Amino acid sequence: MKRMLLLGDEAIAQGAIDAGLSGVYAYPGTPSTEITEYIQRSKAARERGVHSDWSANEKTAMEAALGMSYAGKRAMACMKHVGLNVAADGFINAGITGANGGLIVVAADDPSMHSSQNEQDSRFYGKFALIPMIEPADQQEAYHAMSYGFDLSEKFGTPVLVRITTRLAHSRSGVELREPRDANALTLPQDKRQFVLLPSIARRNYQSLLGKQAGFEEDSEQSPFNSYTEGPDRTLGIIACGIAHNYLMENFQDGCPHPVLKIGQYPAPRNMIRTILKSCDKVLILEDGAPFLEEQIRGLLDESYAILGRLDGTVPRAGELNPNIVATALGRTVETGKPKAEIVKPRPPELCPGCPHIDSYNALNEVLRELEPGRVFSDIGCYTLGALEPFNAINTCVDMGASITMAKGAADAGLFPAVAVIGDSTFTHSGMTGLLDAIIENSPITVMIVDNETTGMTGGQTSSARGKLEDICIGLGVPKDHVRVVEPLKKNHDDNMRVIKEELYYEGVSVIIERRECIQTLKISKMLEKEAAK
Ligand code: SF4
Repeated sequence: MKRMLLLGDEAIAQGAIDAGLSGVYAYPGTPSTEITEYIQRSKAARERGVHSDWSANEKTAMEAALGMSYAGKRAMACMKHVGLNVAADGFINAGITGANGGLIVVAADDPSMHSSQNEQDSRFYGKFALIPMIEPADQQEAYHAMSYGFDLSEKFGTPVLVRITTRLAHSRSGVELREPRDANALTLPQDKRQFVLLPSIARRNYQSLLGKQAGFEEDSEQSPFNSYTEGPDRTLGIIACGIAHNYLMENFQDGCPHPVLKIGQYPAPRNMIRTILKSCDKVLILEDGAPFLEEQIRGLLDESYAILGRLDGTVPRAGELNPNIVATALGRTVETGKPKAEIVKPRPPELCPGCPHIDSYNALNEVLRELEPGRVFSDIGCYTLGALEPFNAINTCVDMGASITMAKGAADAGLFPAVAVIGDSTFTHSGMTGLLDAIIENSPITVMIVDNETTGMTGGQTSSARGKLEDICIGLGVPKDHVRVVEPLKKNHDDNMRVIKEELYYEGVSVIIERRECIQTLKISKMLEKEAAK
């Protein structure tokens, strides 16, 4: 059998290709980006005609994947955990429409917030949508979760959520591959009204979804992702979810002396949980993310049984788990490696030398120096680093697209000037609708679109905005004279300041497009050009 060394993200991608995937839809977001990138690079995916272009945002990705499922094909939407907030409308309603061809949504969570605004746990969304969930414990399971998940999706006619966390997404392990399966043929749903969520149909579909819950749970009791292993020492039982099971076993290389319930499929297997609770004096719950299962098992009153976990402080309430945290929770000695070498210093994030955003912020800061601070609403991308020294250029960063809407709200409150700073990719992701709101009310805001012609922060994926920004802004209703394009370079500093100043004092919606390619993608394209010329 073929074996490959794969990241968790890559195992998901390869697993999906081998399971007969017809299309992946995604917006880049750490730690999920590599799933789609792998499929884009895969020769097998190309030969099979698997669709893999980037979407404008996670909601459009979710909806396109649902459309492909409608046509009977196996489809996947991938995103980071906060992306699932953006996709939530389509995601929850997909639970009600159900799926035709297998439909998997992969949400990559980021406990400890390595590169995210929060550490929300996507399992709550799966429960909210009332759909089955798979949480692989390692790369092999991540690979297997795809064929299993597509089969499960088609068996019950429902979307399936696959939840992973950063550590699994971004670490490598050997993975055994199976024989690839062909893609599904194009087949429309038998029920022509299944996907029409008019209230009368939605009510019927919702009843049908509720009716499937017992089947989901029964499947979970038999699932290869859930297992109960006996142990001689019943003073403690351990429930370990997803990658937490790996961390547990790293502490017990020769086998765990306690009974262990490994959970990797939800709804959680009630009978298996009952068995471990009955067999052991107390139970420790290990889950990476929120106390999702712990809260369900404790219930509201929290008094009948000794349950250890994140809620009683046995495991820290926040942050990702690791083998040492698990060792501490078990009262074991923590094994520490060699001390960190002196040469290893913390490296705070910063804009790359020569980054175009540096010149944009220098000009903006100098213009704003004459005014009171506290007026720059920013967004999510490399330019968010403008919040740090030496720029201290932005005052807010909340979610994708919030720069424009927050600037509008502040302008509505009478704040002057109200400036939004947003990247080109973020603008097409979630900024355009906010701009339309501002245009409808002619709110006096200045939107600076820092256009580095790529999705820089996640590694240079194609931006949906490329070559279209001026047309989009004018099309939405920004007066043509107030869509200004500048090149953020030192030599243009004075001219760019003048443009910023003029637009700040314009009493309506103005847009300044600060256009210069990201230094990193520029380097790569030059290198490729050179190689092509050889
Ligand atoms: S990756 Fe590109 S946009 Fe991001 S900081 Fe570096 S040069 Fe700037």
